[in-house]
Amino acid sequence: MPDPVNLLRAQYAVARSLAESGSLAEAAPSILREVCGALGWDVGVLWRVDPVDRVLRFVDFWSCAGLKSGDFESECRTRTFEPGLGLPGRVWKEGKPSWIPDVSRDANFPRAPFAQEPGLKAAFAFPVRLREQILGVLEFFRRDESAPDDDLLSAMEAAGAQIGQYDVRRRAEGELAEANARLAQQNVALEDANRRLADLAVTDALTGISNHRAFRQRLDAFVSEAARGRSFALVMVDVDHFKRVNDIHGHPAGDQVLRGVAETLRDGIRKTDFAARYGGEEFAVLLADVEEEQAAEISEILRKRVGGLASPFGRVTASFGVAMSRIGRNSAEALLAAADGALLKAKKRGRNRVERAAPPKVKPAISLRKRGKMSKRRPAAKPRSRARRRR
Ligand code: GH3
Ligand code: MG
Ligand code: MG
Repeated sequence: MPDPVNLLRAQYAVARSLAESGSLAEAAPSILREVCGALGWDVGVLWRVDPVDRVLRFVDFWSCAGLKSGDFESECRTRTFEPGLGLPGRVWKEGKPSWIPDVSRDANFPRAPFAQEPGLKAAFAFPVRLREQILGVLEFFRRDESAPDDDLLSAMEAAGAQIGQYDVRRRAEGELAEANARLAQQNVALEDANRRLADLAVTDALTGISNHRAFRQRLDAFVSEAARGRSFALVMVDVDHFKRVNDIHGHPAGDQVLRGVAETLRDGIRKTDFAARYGGEEFAVLLADVEEEQAAEISEILRKRVGGLASPFGRVTASFGVAMSRIGRNSAEALLAAADGALLKAKKRGRNRVERAAPPKVKPAISLRKRGKMSKRRPAAKPRSRARRRR
């Protein structure tokens, strides 16, 4: 009869082993060792129910130091138990603890020949269960005969229920973690798909550069930046006599030319600049932090590159209209109109050239004269400039 303190120790050891482990298989070595240690038993074995094959399968084995239990352990490791067979099978079938005072004299203990060498005699086993469901069997052996001990059996039965609950909870946690991981993966794929969709929404399908929608967004952003003092240029680009390419070589040839022009513009600008297909055979380029001279120079370089494109459909050229962001041209519409005007000028002046928009006429917001800050003798600014124009 074990000391009640040792019984408590064994139960506590089971609880602690479970708390410290991630699964029953992980907790098994420590449960077997601790229970044997607390109760003074020599060998412990854990079996689990395989619900598919309807057999008990080996999980873990522990034996105290110095015991010649090698053959007994090998036998445990390699065999299974059907319901009712041997000590584990009996516990599984009956769903309650079982005690054998001496395994060598038990009619239903097939491992008896292997228990001889280590001298195992008394054995007891109890189910690992979740309510009515048996999940496994724990069995313990010692080297002396010993009569059934009801206190030990009922304490261990309680431990079996505790282990069972733990096992199911951990498995559920594991499944939950797996489900969460799958969900996280699906989320990543979804985010990826969303990103691709968002990219598609701002990409021109034919040329792969930004589309008109993206251009308008970026133009608005550039205009806001210009209001804070940053200078930029809007360059409108129109392929010259493009209709001819379509008419002579067909639309697929025209498409190929458009892709070539798009690539040339995209690759010819800095990271901070922006190129988009405005529509049809027109493109728009935003050049960040440039003054007019620089904008015209960059446009000139782009124009030459377009003109140098290797095309099987005849020489490709384009006309460029440059408009600077500046006071008096501080809206997207005003800039577009100015760049369009410059582009038209380029077309009219023979195509394949860069033209700049004329600077806007800036009206002073409040007349200085009205504010009375000017000498009455001095002529006002407006009439004077008119007079000069007349000359
Ligand atoms: P200009 O030098 O005055 O600009 O003459 P153009 O022939 O380039 O101008 P026009 O506006 O007469 O013709 C533009 C042509 O571009 C007409 C249209 O069919 C063609 N086009 C517009 N979008 C596409 C497209 O996506 N693919 C192809 N292949 N052609 C297009
Ligand atoms: Mg056009
Ligand atoms: Mg054109």
